[in-house]
Amino acid sequence: MNRTALPGLYVHTPFCKTKCPYCDFYSVTKTARIGEWVGAVLREASRHRDAFPLFDSLYIGGGTPSVMNHDEIEGLLEGLSDIFHFDDTTELTMELNPDDVTKEKLAFYRSLGVNRISLGVQSFNEQEVRFLGRRHTARQAQAAVSLVAQGGFAEFGLDLMYGLPRQSTRTWLQTLRKALSFGPAHLSCYQLTIEGDTPFSRLSRGGNLQLPGEARQGALFLETSNYLTGAGFIHYEISNFARSEKTLSRHNAKYWQHTPYLGLGPAAHSFAGTKRWWNVRSLDGYLENLDKGTAPVGGSEELSAGQMRLERMLFGFRTRWGLETSEISSEASRATLEGLCDSGLIELRDKRIFSTVKGYLFADRLPIMVSA
Ligand code: SF4
Repeated sequence: MNRTALPGLYVHTPFCKTKCPYCDFYSVTKTARIGEWVGAVLREASRHRDAFPLFDSLYIGGGTPSVMNHDEIEGLLEGLSDIFHFDDTTELTMELNPDDVTKEKLAFYRSLGVNRISLGVQSFNEQEVRFLGRRHTARQAQAAVSLVAQGGFAEFGLDLMYGLPRQSTRTWLQTLRKALSFGPAHLSCYQLTIEGDTPFSRLSRGGNLQLPGEARQGALFLETSNYLTGAGFIHYEISNFARSEKTLSRHNAKYWQHTPYLGLGPAAHSFAGTKRWWNVRSLDGYLENLDKGTAPVGGSEELSAGQMRLERMLFGFRTRWGLETSEISSEASRATLEGLCDSGLIELRDKRIFSTVKGYLFADRLPIMVSA
């Protein structure tokens, strides 16, 4: 079931040329410090050399990794290869913004061993892209995806967003249809949500931004799953679809299967055994810590057996891997399971419990419902 049990490595690139008004990921727009950050990431990596000797996935995310120039990205990847060992089959993913994509950059990334590209398209509709405050236009996004598709990457994925105000089912399906026309290996379809302290959350609090309600969002979700599975994609996690078993994201699957992962960079999270820890959410704080030779950790938690079980349920209900029926022990919970089966929210197969597509809509609530 696990694609592999080897740990994954994540690098959080905390730089964006501009901030999108809906985004709560940690990033700053002062890109002048990228060189310093690369040095700090490598110092942080050295601290973990013994605990994490071998990885089989490396995900350069952000933020916007494509803001790095050739020397910076080459220095980062070569430095990490000097410090850690990577399995021969390593999945090396890099996130790109459409307006950074050029033929030359793609060839360069390929020469460095990048074998999977994740492109932040969000929409192929000009009005929607403008509403989301993206730096690129829908036309630029199309040109970028064409370049990636022709650029020799067998595996590339697109990030798309639905549930925008005034977005119709028709325009969303047009975006999905356009996405499929490029032959992607993977699609991540996220629902727009109001997060943290962002311009969109301030607009929302002031009554100046209203997202579609739960029923409308649910209908779009089901429409998305129906459309993409109809086109042959595997709906393997609430927001993620793969063209085949081979093109599931090996790296992201680790997050949902309690496989260890190490996160480097400001605000990056790590997990091993029963411990989770996270770095300070500040570029200055991160650089200062590593300059002084101290760990840039902002917090940590040791998960109890009960918390681990609850997480296994949460991950199980939101993915196609499901969970073992033995996780459900009490009589009351077993009765609840039968009710959920009758309602079409879950299925029982081979001593495992799986969410149905309709069940994915309630994935966050199902663990509570069966934990009586
Ligand atoms: S959505 Fe991507 S490009 Fe926009 S601010 Fe967030 S991390 Fe940066």
